[in-house]
Amino acid sequence: MVESYTCPSCGTRGMQVFHQTESVPTNSCILLGSREEALAYPRGRIELAFCPACGFISNMTFDGRLTEYSGRYEETQGFSETFNAFHRKLANRLIERYDLHDKDVLEIGCGKGEFIALLAELGDNRGVGFDPGYREERTADALTDRLKFVKDFYSEKYSSYQADFVCCKMTLEHIHPVSQFLSTVRRAIGDHHDTVVFFQIPEVMRIVRDCAFEDIYYEHCSYFSPGSLGRLFRQNGFDVMNLETEYASQYLTIEAKPSRGMPTAPLAQENDLALLARYVAEFPAKCRTKLDEWRRRVREANGRGRKIVLWGSGSKAVSFLTTLGVGDSIEYAVDINPYRHGYYMPTTGQRIVSPAFLKEYQPDVVIIMNAVYRDEISRDLDRMALRPEILAL
Ligand SMILES: [Zn+2]
Repeated sequence: MVESYTCPSCGTRGMQVFHQTESVPTNSCILLGSREEALAYPRGRIELAFCPACGFISNMTFDGRLTEYSGRYEETQGFSETFNAFHRKLANRLIERYDLHDKDVLEIGCGKGEFIALLAELGDNRGVGFDPGYREERTADALTDRLKFVKDFYSEKYSSYQADFVCCKMTLEHIHPVSQFLSTVRRAIGDHHDTVVFFQIPEVMRIVRDCAFEDIYYEHCSYFSPGSLGRLFRQNGFDVMNLETEYASQYLTIEAKPSRGMPTAPLAQENDLALLARYVAEFPAKCRTKLDEWRRRVREANGRGRKIVLWGSGSKAVSFLTTLGVGDSIEYAVDINPYRHGYYMPTTGQRIVSPAFLKEYQPDVVIIMNAVYRDEISRDLDRMALRPEILAL
């Protein structure tokens, strides 16, 4: 009985299932060395449920044992000038706002360590990063004396690591027992009441409002709006200082501090439950229309013999190919991250190629997986004197 799902965020029974996808790869960013391995990659299902009590959205059929975060998980966005400019600005903002100079920072889910390296470099801070997928060779030698990395998931056993600033970017959405995780973070901070906690995740209000189906994939089992994220933090002993959306409203950030006992008043942005419930109710019909439109565009181009490539080979591209079921109409996915070149897309098997490959391939249509990179990609195509039709999600 789906009605019996209990919310992993607030503990209330009665989550409502509103979206299902079958047969999606259980990893989107994994490097797969052959087309055969890619086609045979394990699949799982997505059953998104909404909690009317707190607004949390979760894939309630998620099985963490099917995901893999290792050195062959290649998720970095650090080869994009657009992303790097954003990342640097974010680091500077946090350094300035919380006077992060000569301080200790801790990052949970640091990926390849780019953000903690920025905090160390720009604020002269020291840091410890946790991530099973971290790779030493990605950190500049000049920073290695100030940074330490633990190739493991952060957990209770690391609670002896104390810091002035705890950050966790694009990680909470990969965790299913979200309340349990946040209580671990809160217990580790203990009575260090000045510790600032910063989290960044995808923002779900936009995803359900616009039916951003490309942002729904297996690794992302947990989805928050400003209100549901604020409620999770308050319930686990934090005061919420700030909630913001950025990067074309795709990212949601929260800044919080351990509560001293007297709950603070909710911020205006936390009052979003009714609107979110409406978007969730409208989602299935809107999503069907949007998926049909994209299928029509791809099939039509394909039927006219036009060559289509995806620009972007990460999670959004995986979701695009599997949710629409158009894998057989597209031969290649382009990526600017050289670490991904020569590998294959999980379950649909497209080869991942460099932008330079397009000079030879001469695509007729380029579908951009994230419109935020449209200018950057258009410039790259211009430089190669390519003039394909550009479509963007
Ligand atoms: Zn809930």
